[in-house]
Amino acid sequence: MEKHEKSKPHKPRRLRFETLAIHAGQQSDPNNGAVMTPVYFSSTFEQDAPAKPRAGYEYSRTSNPTRTALQDNLAALESGKWGLAFASGLAATNALCHRLRPGDHVLATNDLYGGTFRLFKRCFEHFGIAFDFVKASDQAALERALRPSTRYLFLESPTNPLLSICDLAPLAALAKKRGVLTVVDNTFATPYLQRPLELGADLVLHSLTKYIGGHSDVVAGALIGNDEELRKELAFYQNAVGGQLGPMDAFLVLRGVKTLPLRMERHCANAQRIAEALTQHPLVEKVYYPGLSTHPQHELAARQMKAFGGMVSFELSGGTPAANAFATATELFTLAESLGGVESLVEVPASMTHASIPPEERKKAGLSDGLVRLSVGIEHVDDLLADVQQAIERSASPAKLAAR
Ligand SMILES: *Cc1c(COP(=O)(O)O)cnc(C)c1O
Repeated sequence: MEKHEKSKPHKPRRLRFETLAIHAGQQSDPNNGAVMTPVYFSSTFEQDAPAKPRAGYEYSRTSNPTRTALQDNLAALESGKWGLAFASGLAATNALCHRLRPGDHVLATNDLYGGTFRLFKRCFEHFGIAFDFVKASDQAALERALRPSTRYLFLESPTNPLLSICDLAPLAALAKKRGVLTVVDNTFATPYLQRPLELGADLVLHSLTKYIGGHSDVVAGALIGNDEELRKELAFYQNAVGGQLGPMDAFLVLRGVKTLPLRMERHCANAQRIAEALTQHPLVEKVYYPGLSTHPQHELAARQMKAFGGMVSFELSGGTPAANAFATATELFTLAESLGGVESLVEVPASMTHASIPPEERKKAGLSDGLVRLSVGIEHVDDLLADVQQAIERSASPAKLAAR
């Protein structure tokens, strides 16, 4: 206490990302000094008089102190003024969709997360809301697809699972001119690698389930922005619809986020090595990784991102059978959906994460049935390289191996 009274008020100082990841939104508990934010397992909070909550909290669907700490942390990491945490990434997208009205239009990138596509098409289209999907790296095509009724330009970069990059700043500027809000699903990049609000986007969306949580032990989502009116509207839907994040899950994400910078460094370094090794392999036809100089938007990725991320996709020369064989032949890479945890995962998007996108749409987006997607973890890279190598050998048909 005394120390505090003597010291001069701090001049506001922009702390670096690594420091914010650990400290933003959090302080030692004023009651008992607990260093880690407690899990406030309380559904309701005492009021001093009717409608006079003692400390600003009334009911945990509306707000909860553990969730507030996480929301403030995420806002700081994304250079935003506010954050709102939801029960999943899709619950965050659902809250966004609740702002739409019949006749409204959403323009989205065409190789976006399968669950987002399903939410748009199967849960909101029947309310008279129109959705279009266009390749976001084709700026002219996007511009042509904007309508007077367009409310959101919904972008992912890098995209899932083809890891294409779009130029966020000019797209956000274009949308702004037309009165359209730009929403960037920043799940793959994380704020450590890319901060869309600094590039002019209006809202950032996260599946915290992935890199930010980082340990494959929680499902969570968030929206982050700057505009106070938008915050009020979205907080209204967070409370009115009830897709908010619970305190235990908020705690798990808060614990995960503290090591985000360290984990991302290793994810990126490992993924780069694996992508390079795959390009050298005679049984690999195509590798998708923005860190390769052969990637069509490599220069843009280098400008827009701090590093190239932990996701690598590739096609084997044996097509779908080889892809399926590879995905079951790996020993360290676990065959599972999801991504962004410390452990490495492998999946075949066309039959797993992206099965909810109709085959014609997948084809249009260039997503082949034989594409393999790796979420490269933070294990030792030599072990991962050896596993990829042996799985390719085991997945190749004897004829292919002999022809080599
Ligand atoms: C997983 C994911 C989502 C959905 O998040 P959930 O937490 O699973 O609801 C949205 N966008 C991307 C890019 C994802 O990878």
